[in-house]
Amino acid sequence: MELQERLNEVRSHIAAAERQAGRPDGAVQLVAVSKTFDAAAIRPAISAGQRVFGENRVQESQGKWPELKAETPGIELHLIGPLQSNKAVDAVALFDVIETIDREKIARAIADEMKRQGKTVRLYVQVNTGLEPQKAGIAPDDTAAFVDLCRKELGLSIEGLMCIPPADENPGPHFALLAKLAKKAGVEKLSMGMSSDYEIAVAFGATSVRVGSAIFGAR
Ligand SMILES: *Cc1c(COP(=O)(O)O)cnc(C)c1O
Repeated sequence: MELQERLNEVRSHIAAAERQAGRPDGAVQLVAVSKTFDAAAIRPAISAGQRVFGENRVQESQGKWPELKAETPGIELHLIGPLQSNKAVDAVALFDVIETIDREKIARAIADEMKRQGKTVRLYVQVNTGLEPQKAGIAPDDTAAFVDLCRKELGLSIEGLMCIPPADENPGPHFALLAKLAKKAGVEKLSMGMSSDYEIAVAFGATSVRVGSAIFGAR
């Protein structure tokens, strides 16, 4: 199958899941996760009309996205991988959305950097819904207070929450938990669902799904 066919298939599965959940057409944004693929492999997705992309490494992204963004206006680039504060300068410069804010130090670094560069980046807080020690993200119980701190103390506007459920668990309860935490924290957007479970995520209220291998192929 060609990339364009796989992309169309994912789009139609999202549309079907929206209908089945009684949600409006286009309620869910597709973030095409292009990590590990080079500019030549990404261009066909851009040609097929895809404009929203996700990457998990700042340095890898710097090697392809400045060029791709210069070629096509209107690209929206999401950082979906862990962020170190020494990369805040580059992350703020290149990305339009950072989905992995999960501790005060990184929130402060991003706040300072946005001021310095005069650029606003849209922000999500990552939640470690499975409390996995190896995984980034704030603990579910600390989410509302952390969002509050970002808003009141750092002046950041937090647009949504993001999660990556444990690989070996039924994702539904994790998606439900993220939706509940968002309501409690007064946050509107939910970034949840990947190639293996994005239709389930749509049923649980995802406003964006992050799909990589189902579009670009195995990594
Ligand atoms: C790689 C990645 C994805 C996409 O995973 P696929 O299974 O290839 O769809 C989604 N979210 C995050 C945070 C990722 O790192």
